[in-house]
Amino acid sequence: MNEVISIANQKGGVGKTTTAVNLAASLAQKGKKVLLLDLDPQSNATTSLGFSRSDYEFNIYHVLIGSKKLSEVVLETAIKNLSLAPSTIGLVGIEKEFYSPKKQNRELILKEKIKVVTGKFDFIIIDSPPALGPITINALSASDSVIIPIQCEFFALEGLAQLLNTVSLLKKTINPKLKIKGFLPTMYSGQNNLSKQVLADLSHHFKERLFHTKGSEACIVVPRNVKVAESPSFGKPVTAYASKSKGAIAYQELATVILED
Ligand code: ATP
Ligand code: MG
Repeated sequence: MNEVISIANQKGGVGKTTTAVNLAASLAQKGKKVLLLDLDPQSNATTSLGFSRSDYEFNIYHVLIGSKKLSEVVLETAIKNLSLAPSTIGLVGIEKEFYSPKKQNRELILKEKIKVVTGKFDFIIIDSPPALGPITINALSASDSVIIPIQCEFFALEGLAQLLNTVSLLKKTINPKLKIKGFLPTMYSGQNNLSKQVLADLSHHFKERLFHTKGSEACIVVPRNVKVAESPSFGKPVTAYASKSKGAIAYQELATVILED
């Protein structure tokens, strides 16, 4: 079995990378073989796992242009069972390649490249950039499902309709199996009335889209947590840096729900 999950939201700074890194790490810590695929030129997922530019020669850009196989750029991380396909800022150049008029099936390039590692991993988790451009479209076209992190702040739902439209369009055309795995409220603060209001709105309008642990009425919410914010500077997922923190527990619960799915 091999399940490909994209973490997407074209809104910036909503917790995509944090979710991709910590869900991938939690699944790996539960014994699954996981590939975290950094598909953002900002390379935050790569940096969050402690890699700097000098640690690797080739990256996902080389895979997408066809000069390397995905298996040739994969790095082992300090977390057992967790591998990383790194990115660099050079990945911005791929948009030009994707837009080349000669390029056929440009939405399906990543899907094609992923095939060589099918069977090696139980899960492939893709971190995508804050845009609904060709990189994110490639991520969604290669995925079985998508998790949409939603920051519990003002404007939380801005752009959500456009993202949902894109998902349903892809479903009708090039990727009929694409499912919305769920919405994940992030950076929730119990002291903040606005945060509470956003969560109440989400629960009211999208209850069935939120993640629930078995037998629990409450949905999984990632709290705003200082350990989550600190962990990338130590090059570790929060589930390894502070495994008992509230932030880590939320991501461990999310992994449990996904394994039960
Ligand atoms: P971008 O759109 O730029 O790729 P993103 O959606 O990937 O951003 P993140 O980088 O995951 O968002 O998070 C944005 C910032 O918020 C980061 O500094 C991150 O450390 C911080 N952050 C994310 N989740 C939490 C949390 N639960 N508690 C505290 N800080 C958080
Ligand atoms: Mg990011």
